[in-house]
Amino acid sequence: SEIYGDPAVTPQPETYWGNVNPIGERSCYDEGKRAGETFANDMRRTRGADVRIARIFNTYGPWMDPDDGRVVSNFICQALRHEPLTIYGQGEQTRSFCFVDDLVDGLFRLLWHGEPVPFPVNLGNPDERTIASLVAALSELFDRDLPVVYKPLPADDPVRRRPDIARARTLLAWEPAVPLHQGLARTIEWFRERISASPS
Ligand code: UDP
Repeated sequence: SEIYGDPAVTPQPETYWGNVNPIGERSCYDEGKRAGETFANDMRRTRGADVRIARIFNTYGPWMDPDDGRVVSNFICQALRHEPLTIYGQGEQTRSFCFVDDLVDGLFRLLWHGEPVPFPVNLGNPDERTIASLVAALSELFDRDLPVVYKPLPADDPVRRRPDIARARTLLAWEPAVPLHQGLARTIEWFRERISASPS
């Protein structure tokens, strides 16, 4: 989904070309993904390669690296260590979080689809949440008010992200099945076995 940059259209359908700053701090991420689609699609067009392009939106679940800095892993590890949750900005930005099992199911359906798929396909959960509401959902699951600290918003942090998954629904008969609360509960249990309660 990074190819959409800071989208001016919401939800984002595959036909939207995105809104990307080409020279910002985040640009190598956005433009790297965009160039990847270009190269893959050129191989399809000029060499006939059977390429599939999945536009993956925010994904979470067991096996995340506790140190990779994503919001779900950061918040869960911070809560387990009894540290304050680090909200970047005011927490009003949104993301749409897809549980890893759903995402993998979508990827396999796209990979094994019997016909050529000469266009990108969004894979993600349309259940859009603010970062502040993610804190609220985790507070419920931890059964306590989780303290927060506010940190500066990274440059070019997208304000909204929400996939339009009409294409995946029609083409792959796919849509996410795991609700956020259930997916977060499973993710917390996975991290709980690996993170000690003492501050790092
Ligand atoms: N974020 C946050 N606290 C953190 C990590 C991330 O508030 O400890 C915010 C981040 O600024 C962004 C959102 O959560 O707005 C999702 O960040 P992540 O890196 O997980 O995904 P991405 O920005 O690549 O969609």
